[in-house]
Amino acid sequence: MSQLSDFVLKHSVRGSCECGQCIDAPETSVQPTGHTADVYNFQVAAKDNPDPETLKKLIQEHKGVFCNVDPLDGEDHGYIELGEWIGDQGLALQLMGLGTLLGLWELLTPKTMCPGLPKDLMDMMAGKGLIEVKKTA
Ligand SMILES: [Zn+2]
Repeated sequence: MSQLSDFVLKHSVRGSCECGQCIDAPETSVQPTGHTADVYNFQVAAKDNPDPETLKKLIQEHKGVFCNVDPLDGEDHGYIELGEWIGDQGLALQLMGLGTLLGLWELLTPKTMCPGLPKDLMDMMAGKGLIEVKKTA
């Protein structure tokens, strides 16, 4: 397992944040920002204070499994591409969520891009790969 995968597994969990401010909030209410990222298929929360600079460094050093990608180059990168890069689609989504929480990039999903669409249409878009990250600054 790569150091990057290791970092993602150690510093993020699937599900809502359990800091205490979030746990009792109903799902429909506004949660504190930066606690939980919605990568469409599931939610991602950070764990044990991950350092954004360390994550950036591991991303830059990571050697792709099936392809080489630089998720920090300012282009759109979907979970299918990042899955081939990190070796697992679920882990790619978890990385995308964690990087969003740490301010590395912006998360683009059918929910953020086309809110209000019927759920089956959103599911279809997500299935085609429209869950992406894009570094903005
Ligand atoms: Zn929280």
